[in-house]
Amino acid sequence: METITSDIAIIGAGGAGLRAAIALAQADPRLRIALISKVYPMRSHTCAAEGGAAGVIKGDDSLEQHFNDTVGGGDWLCDQDAVDYLVQEAPKELLQLEHWGCPWSRELDGSVAVRPFGGMKIQRTWFAADKTGFHLLHTLFQTSLQFSSIERYDEYYATDLLVDEGRCCGLTAIEMRSGQMRQFRARAVIIAGGGAGRMFPFTTNGAIKTGDGMALAYRAGVPLKDMEFVQYHPTGLPSTGTLLTEACRGEGGVLLNKHGRRFLQDYGMGPETPIGKPVLKTMELGPRDRLSQAFWHEQKKGNMVTTQWGDAMLLDMRHLGEQKINERLPLVRDMSISYMGVDPVRDPVPVRPVVHYMMGGIHTDIRAATPLAGLYAAGECACVSINGANRLGSNSLTELLVFGRRAALSAMEYLASDPGRGNSQAIDAQAEAARARVRALFQKSGGESIAGLRKEMMHTLEQHAGIYRSGEGLSEACATLAALRRRYANIELHDKTNVYNTDLLQALELGSMLDCAEAVAVSALERRESRGAHQRLDFTERDDARYLKHSLASFQGAAAPRVDYSDVVITKSQPGVRDYSGGHA
Ligand SMILES: Cc1cc2nc3c(=O)[nH]c(=O)nc-3n(C[C@H](O)[C@H](O)[C@H](O)COP(=O)(O)OP(=O)(O)OC[C@H]3O[C@@H](n4cnc5c(N)ncnc54)[C@H](O)[C@@H]3O)c2cc1C
Repeated sequence: METITSDIAIIGAGGAGLRAAIALAQADPRLRIALISKVYPMRSHTCAAEGGAAGVIKGDDSLEQHFNDTVGGGDWLCDQDAVDYLVQEAPKELLQLEHWGCPWSRELDGSVAVRPFGGMKIQRTWFAADKTGFHLLHTLFQTSLQFSSIERYDEYYATDLLVDEGRCCGLTAIEMRSGQMRQFRARAVIIAGGGAGRMFPFTTNGAIKTGDGMALAYRAGVPLKDMEFVQYHPTGLPSTGTLLTEACRGEGGVLLNKHGRRFLQDYGMGPETPIGKPVLKTMELGPRDRLSQAFWHEQKKGNMVTTQWGDAMLLDMRHLGEQKINERLPLVRDMSISYMGVDPVRDPVPVRPVVHYMMGGIHTDIRAATPLAGLYAAGECACVSINGANRLGSNSLTELLVFGRRAALSAMEYLASDPGRGNSQAIDAQAEAARARVRALFQKSGGESIAGLRKEMMHTLEQHAGIYRSGEGLSEACATLAALRRRYANIELHDKTNVYNTDLLQALELGSMLDCAEAVAVSALERRESRGAHQRLDFTERDDARYLKHSLASFQGAAAPRVDYSDVVITKSQPGVRDYSGGHA
């Protein structure tokens, strides 16, 4: 098997992977960096981010307020030392992007503009119109091209981590163009593989978000942390699941039920503010978990409008006017017209909650280090944890910059301890075993179809692990997902060729999703309380005495994962009441 040797291998060339690669290349030009991605870097999901990235920049804001919004928004499940690090580093990272050429939108006086965002009680979200992710990723990508030490392996699909003597020593990946397995030997590995929203049928997530990075670490013995916390974004287009950014509401858009009522005032998020006035702290700029839950209740009461794609609420932006919509929300206008046939300048747009983000992920400490020596993780695949039980919008782009860089610095410190490369023969044997496992997929003829199993998985999660959950439903989900994992052993590939075999890749992605899905369901069943995005109909209250803890799901082969708990780091903010009823700012 062809072996590619580097100092550090990075899995993923989205925002987190590129930021890590640049930090490494800048710190030591002698380092050889392998940047491995299953898609061309600009096709990573970061490119799809719309609304912006949070960081304190204006005089009326402070690091303390960014900290408090994040910790309260996360229902006190965030590690507060990590949040402190995030808010301190955020402005530096966003300014760094400015210096690398990111075209941040401006105020009239030429200073960087910020907009309000959900759960942020002060305006602190930097943006580039409503195409922030595109510009951010482009800036990182073009910067990375300056460094010859970053060797790109685009369209390589990572299948397994290589571990020897308790250290991560590399990975195996399929070169998609030839179908051949390659071995990447490295002294340290950073996983930046993104999220896993594709486990659900209705999601804003691009097709590549199948939890591969999480599954790679999980199968290598690293726990997945807080997997029960799955974020629904309140405003997706019912036809496609395409996101209409929170910036729609940040700019002043309002949510109505079928009676034309701004119903959020009935769910502890009032008082109603005059349309056109800033709505900070309250109403439409409440946090995502609360807004999605309010939708669920209104739907039960029959207060939603009916569309050919199911029930929806209305996002009314007409009062913003054509000029502002074109300047601040051009993509939103385009997409509403293209996918719904509705022009937001003239009519309210139907929207409904949609799976958006995984708060949980690979268990890392504040240094972005996993418990496996030599393995680091950053970005959406990681749980450091700054998002706790509910991420605030616009903290994620910031997180991937801050912790992408942090993972790189920690990996460099590890290399300085001269960890070696492990036993070559033992690693070769592992790589061969990984290749054999993939080849075995070609031989199977059990008759299970990839699409069939995927559909059942999605349906199970949507039905039982959605906005509201119950013990009974989650038990059923665990049983179904365990059965699906067994049936996965009998999937049959129809395409047996080597070149760009998407059948094979989808089979491997399904394997990743099934592992992550089971971790979600089992962790959710075990958490017998309601907190943030995890709402139980049978345990409706937050229970700090028992569950002010991170869940840690550990892979157990064919058996269900084991769930343990670890303490949340609390430094200065004791758990309190999440209050979003404070009137407008
Ligand atoms: C529509 C949308 C809008 C959003 N808007 C915002 C916003 O305005 N503000 C905000 O803060 N957040 C936003 N988010 C969330 C945020 O964009 C993501 O959480 C973040 O971009 C994830 O970045 P990442 O680098 O971790 O992963 P990604 O950008 O998803 O990159 C993952 C990388 O991993 C690679 N990879 C995965 N599996 C493998 C494998 N097996 N082998 C090799 N490579 C692999 C992929 O090729 C890719 O390069 C939004 C998300 C969506 C979906």
